[in-house]
Amino acid sequence: MFEILQKLEKTYNGKDLTMLKRAYDFAKKAHANQKRASGEEYFIHPCTVAHILVDLGLDAATVAAAFLHDVIEDTPVSEGDIKKEFGEEVLELVVGVTKLDKIRFNSKEEEQAENFRKIFVAMAKDIRVIIIKLADRLHNMRSLNFLSSERQQRMARETLDIYAPLADRLGISQIKCELEDLCLKYVEPDMYEYLSSNIDEKLKESVDLVEHVVDEVKKMLADSGISGEVFGRKKHLYSVHRKMKERNKTLDQIYDLVAIRVIVNTVDECYEVFGKIHHKWKPVPGRIKDYIATPKLNMYRSLHTTVMTNFGKVFEIQIRTYEMNHAAEYGIAAHWKYKENKKEADDLDTRLSWIREVMEWQGGLKDSKEFLNSLKGDIYSSEVLVFTPKGDVISLPKDATPLDFAYNIHSQVGNRCVGAKVNSKMVPLNTVLQVGDVVDIITSQNSKGPSWDWLKIVKSPSARVKIRQFFKREMKEENIKMGKSMFEAEAKRRGYSMSELVTDQSFEHVASKLSFTGQDEMFASIGYGALTVNHVIVKFIDFYRRSQPKEEITKFISKNKSSSGGVNVKGMSGLLVRFARCCTPVPGDDIVGFISRGHGVTVHRRDCPNLKNADYDRLIEVSWEDTATSSYNATIKVIGNTQTEILTIVASVVAQFDLDIVSTNGRVDGKSKRAIVDFCIRLNSIDVLNSLIVKLKQDPKISDVYRTAN
Ligand code: MN
Repeated sequence: MFEILQKLEKTYNGKDLTMLKRAYDFAKKAHANQKRASGEEYFIHPCTVAHILVDLGLDAATVAAAFLHDVIEDTPVSEGDIKKEFGEEVLELVVGVTKLDKIRFNSKEEEQAENFRKIFVAMAKDIRVIIIKLADRLHNMRSLNFLSSERQQRMARETLDIYAPLADRLGISQIKCELEDLCLKYVEPDMYEYLSSNIDEKLKESVDLVEHVVDEVKKMLADSGISGEVFGRKKHLYSVHRKMKERNKTLDQIYDLVAIRVIVNTVDECYEVFGKIHHKWKPVPGRIKDYIATPKLNMYRSLHTTVMTNFGKVFEIQIRTYEMNHAAEYGIAAHWKYKENKKEADDLDTRLSWIREVMEWQGGLKDSKEFLNSLKGDIYSSEVLVFTPKGDVISLPKDATPLDFAYNIHSQVGNRCVGAKVNSKMVPLNTVLQVGDVVDIITSQNSKGPSWDWLKIVKSPSARVKIRQFFKREMKEENIKMGKSMFEAEAKRRGYSMSELVTDQSFEHVASKLSFTGQDEMFASIGYGALTVNHVIVKFIDFYRRSQPKEEITKFISKNKSSSGGVNVKGMSGLLVRFARCCTPVPGDDIVGFISRGHGVTVHRRDCPNLKNADYDRLIEVSWEDTATSSYNATIKVIGNTQTEILTIVASVVAQFDLDIVSTNGRVDGKSKRAIVDFCIRLNSIDVLNSLIVKLKQDPKISDVYRTAN
């Protein structure tokens, strides 16, 4: 604990130092008499967290917040106290960390996604909160052996799943490596034991060789008048473990347990050394990586090569500048160390852009599972490098497609993309790109923009954001309105109402197929023509039909049964039925009902001249009641090319079933030019009706058949 005070004296001065000392005293007092699971004083924990952050080079506010990070949660100290003593900035950091502490990562995917969201919200507000949290987790992992084995497992898993990848993504390899090794110890204790004892054994064997290679490279530098450092660096256990697993190899088959690192002053010198090394030793194909020209997603920069040395042993060599080396160790934290430096500020912006991206698209992703997957995809993604036709290198996430490539170039290129060539051959847009592919995107000014399917194809979050942005722009009020009225008209034409088709349930079902997140999105894309209304509506109709319970249909049939005066009135019971005196219909006549106000239904012959001027809305289908009381009328709507065709087909099928058609009523839709015929069919069981519909659907000339009510 005195160590940290000395460290503070050495690192900070002036107002910063005074504040940090006050934070130290404040936390010490607040945590007095508290103990950790290990039995040691609680205050050791915030001190260690602060220490880690000082070593990372964080600013005074962050370190002060580290001292105070557990006081709100574990002591009577209030937010107001901290604000009064240390001001708004420190308070915000402490509150941020406290909030993150409350996040428990469960196995439930839904909750995990929600938790990730919280982390990203915190990061977007102030990235330093996450850095404090990482330091906090690091110290907790270091002292994990005092907890129950169940908590050890949970913490280690959580760290491996969330915090180590976050540290990696922020480029803080120091923390990442230590976290991973600590996790391995608890998650796979046997493997940890095996590796930690055997790697050192193996290293002893090769220590002379490593020294030899280091000497050779040093000589190389001296000969070229380049000043720099050369040393061997042991790989951390977890990375060896990962390599064994990924490449399915035993420890003996992993040759790069040590990497030779060369650190020089300039980028030019990096490449000079790189060339000299390849001149001296043969590089292993496929193992040369230029992360200077194309930095990793976490901004890691370095040259990597693996060479066969003249002593018959393969070595990995990493070449970088001092600045790159520092950035590789400290990642995003390096920003605070060189705060004055303008270039570093830009760098921070680039480093943080992915967080903004995540924030942006998480707003558009309502489905937490999708969110979680995309996020994991982003954090864990490895990369594939491909080329533009001009030879520029583009780095994309693994399994990326030409669409990812197009959006990486520019959102306009993506939005207008109509095709792609890979290595001069036309390919489908969902083709998975391979390392070294030359990708040429074909665009067209006439393109209507991205399609919703693209959201399923693209692998990079940024492409997904851009596609969603496009849709968002198109989400104008008039498009939504237009789409809605198109949908409504089509629904009506097919004999449905909008409200029976579009329910929360049915939307959820359709949305999962077409990747919408809201009804507005759906209507808008119908409105501006990205989707045809037919494409969407058939999915709703399908859902509607499948979700109609059988009782409903039975009810409908029995409702139809009600009759009066030997006449069925469609869908109504208990009505007063009279026969019109003008045309005196008799059983067998084609009849129609007229709803007269206060007098029930008057039944006319359909050809009755008095009906010609009747109010069409007041006409109602009626039919003669069959003497066989066990049979009922059911109505179906059949859609096809022409009325004659429909009538012929239905008549023959109905005859096959030995049924009667009670009435038909056909028309041609003005817009789609398709024929629609309603049939009233007399039958005696619902099963017969169902098989009739199935049979009709099998005919290719019939495009749709369904029951109608009322
Ligand atoms: Mn803590």
